[in-house]
Amino acid sequence: MFRLSAVRLSHFLPSLFLLVSGLAAAYVRDLNVFFTSLFNVLPTLVLLLGGAYCTVYRRQRELFLMVTVYIAYFLLDTQTDYYRDNGVVRQDAAVVFHLVCLLLPILFALYGAWQERTHLFQDMVARFAVLLAVGSTALGLEQSYPQALLNWLAEIRWPALHGQWMSLIQLAYPVFLLAFILLVVQYLREPRPLHAAQVIGLMGIFWMLPQTFILPFTLNIMCSQVMLMIAAAVSHEAYQMAFRDELTGLPGRRALNERMQRLGRNYVLAMTDVDHFKKFNDTHGHDVGDQVLRLVASKLSKVTGGGRAYRYGGEEFALVFAAKTIEECLPHLEAVREVIANYNIQLRNQDSRPQDDQQGRQRRGAAGASSVSVTISIGAAERLPEHRSPDEVLKSADQALYSAKGAGRNCTMTYGHQSKRGAVRTA
Ligand code: GH3
Ligand code: MG
Ligand code: MG
Repeated sequence: MFRLSAVRLSHFLPSLFLLVSGLAAAYVRDLNVFFTSLFNVLPTLVLLLGGAYCTVYRRQRELFLMVTVYIAYFLLDTQTDYYRDNGVVRQDAAVVFHLVCLLLPILFALYGAWQERTHLFQDMVARFAVLLAVGSTALGLEQSYPQALLNWLAEIRWPALHGQWMSLIQLAYPVFLLAFILLVVQYLREPRPLHAAQVIGLMGIFWMLPQTFILPFTLNIMCSQVMLMIAAAVSHEAYQMAFRDELTGLPGRRALNERMQRLGRNYVLAMTDVDHFKKFNDTHGHDVGDQVLRLVASKLSKVTGGGRAYRYGGEEFALVFAAKTIEECLPHLEAVREVIANYNIQLRNQDSRPQDDQQGRQRRGAAGASSVSVTISIGAAERLPEHRSPDEVLKSADQALYSAKGAGRNCTMTYGHQSKRGAVRTA
């Protein structure tokens, strides 16, 4: 249920940076005119830019998260402005503030966990309807029964659980806790930058609310930061889509092309290709093939010697060793080739057994055991004076790979060297 192996600190880093910088900025007491004017326009600016960004990327969930935060900001900012100008709070300050403390975490968690499944337009109408229903009910109650609503909100329902530190209404705490659990569970089930940003964003809101009337620009700063976290997560995911391969999680061809432009004078490029993979797919099915590609990718990503793995396409992967010679890289290439060849892959699908002897050859261990193994061939080339561009080095690596295939597979060949490294398994 939880995909703990996909949890990454990098999913949280941009949001944590924004949270910490928001906290630091909120504690600065004497702000100069530049910053006070900036913080006055920042939330609106962030909403407009972030909103436009989400619209272009068709990200309704994120758009509505931002709009929710902005509405809360707008309602509370009206109150803090009045308080700042007059030294006393407005008559409806308590009820508005308590309502925001209750409804903001509810709507934030709701929109955060509400995945886009239907048609874009229907999805938008549904989200808007929820916002309208919640907003108009709250407004109606606030206008018609302000005192009764205030009493209901401020009531201490569980005196035994009430702590002196609680500066929000008691009801807000279980709501925040449930929202937090919901968003954390969502992140653990589907670890991705947006889900991480929502968790950190909720923490920012939780910290912000009690400070609203105490620290002058807390509201403006933290609401802006939370909206920025959402926008940053959208761009983080867009970047991942462009540069990461979805199946294996490795950087993809585009990332490799970019890396190759910045390689300097000495480097080694290696091309690796899974042996007889077409047959493997035919025997075990495409799903098992995908599973194996993920495993090969994970082993290649752990290559030692400073190498970095990329999915070149299909069952081909490229390894980049910056500032290395071929002699330095070979032991590491051989090591990773052996790790893959010696690894028994446990099949999840017990039904996918080989149907004939020939197909069964790639099996290892006891007969009938549900594990398989694959091998890879590697072609490596270091940059030589004859190479005018990294693309040419890659072509040489490809030629070496071709030789490795010709030499019986499951081995490493280097460009310009005739010797073959590694064992050739008898197929
Ligand atoms: P060789 O040892 O000469 O490399 O033989 P091969 O069968 O691996 O070579 P070929 O390039 O003809 O086959 C590559 C196969 O890889 C074709 C395709 O079925 C499979 N393949 C490519 N991409 C994917 C993928 O994303 N998932 C799966 N399951 N299979 C893929
Ligand atoms: Mg191939
Ligand atoms: Mg192949």
